[in-house]
Amino acid sequence: MTVALTVVSGNGRAWRLTEQIGSGSEGFVYGVEDTRPLVAKLVPDPPDPEAFRRRVARLVRQRREPRTVELLSGTPVRLSWPLVPVRTAGGGPERVDGYVMTDMRHAYQPFSHLLDPHARRAHLPAATWATALCAALALARLLARVHAEGYVVGDLKPDNLWVDETGRIGMADVDSWQFTDGRDTFAGRMRTPGYTAPERIAAPAGAPPDSASDDFALAVLVHQLLVAGLHPFAGHPAGGGCLRDYTSYDDNVVHGRCRLLDRTSVLLPRSAPPADLLPRPLAEGFRAAFAPAGRRPTAAGWARSLAAELAPGRLKVCAVNARHVHTVERPWCPWCDQAGQGFDSYPDDPREDA
Ligand SMILES: [Zn+2]
Repeated sequence: MTVALTVVSGNGRAWRLTEQIGSGSEGFVYGVEDTRPLVAKLVPDPPDPEAFRRRVARLVRQRREPRTVELLSGTPVRLSWPLVPVRTAGGGPERVDGYVMTDMRHAYQPFSHLLDPHARRAHLPAATWATALCAALALARLLARVHAEGYVVGDLKPDNLWVDETGRIGMADVDSWQFTDGRDTFAGRMRTPGYTAPERIAAPAGAPPDSASDDFALAVLVHQLLVAGLHPFAGHPAGGGCLRDYTSYDDNVVHGRCRLLDRTSVLLPRSAPPADLLPRPLAEGFRAAFAPAGRRPTAAGWARSLAAELAPGRLKVCAVNARHVHTVERPWCPWCDQAGQGFDSYPDDPREDA
């Protein structure tokens, strides 16, 4: 979609918008004409425009504060932080607020490319289970750092994440985070089905997130990464020996229907990756994260247990297919087992359809 729009910053710097490249929480992202890799996010109808402008201004200011130094260090940059507030040019009440940020596409691909088998084959053909482990570790480390600096993501989900072929992770939609600035609290409101902690599903709309609700979403994402895209609460409800209608991931979350908690609680296709592909410490982490009374691991805890699985000698390459990488805890290859059931998540030749 082409647009003929210009955005301007408070000091008069103007950017012409090029094409619309995406839509995020409450807003739209556009390419901008600039020699640097930048994009603009515009939020046409925020619930409280003044609060939105204040939120963006505070985030822009925090870029120069000590709490963001480590978060914003490194190349490629891991966070698409708001760089400068902008408004659409021209007068009138129809002016739209937004901000300019780093274009993550210059260094990353959409995170969903690593989860979806077909996109993985097309866009990340060299990815293996080791890449998934690296991405899970990078995500856990980044979230642990975000929490350590007092931020809560609130709406952690694949749409807000980026990944590269080595498993490095980037995060966008920083304007929906929850944070404090001086005496002011900027609450997070957004939530996404399938990535909402059970206590927030049950709470009234608008209940604020916290680092523990982020940790639930992190566990879901780590499970998706390590089980070739499978959502931990996927499956047709099957408890008590009778099939019920599938409603949603959130319905399964609320009722604890999860293969790792109770393998009779859901029905999954035979071609789903086997549950025992997970090394024991990680399987225990997922049970603790998803059980109703479990002690949910923190992001820092996930980072420790994921790093341990990447230690020398913990990974094994299948003798049949070099793209089948798995934990040494499992004596034979889980991906060959899966292939025997009709689908190979990491096929030998990614150009061929499994
Ligand atoms: Zn194999």
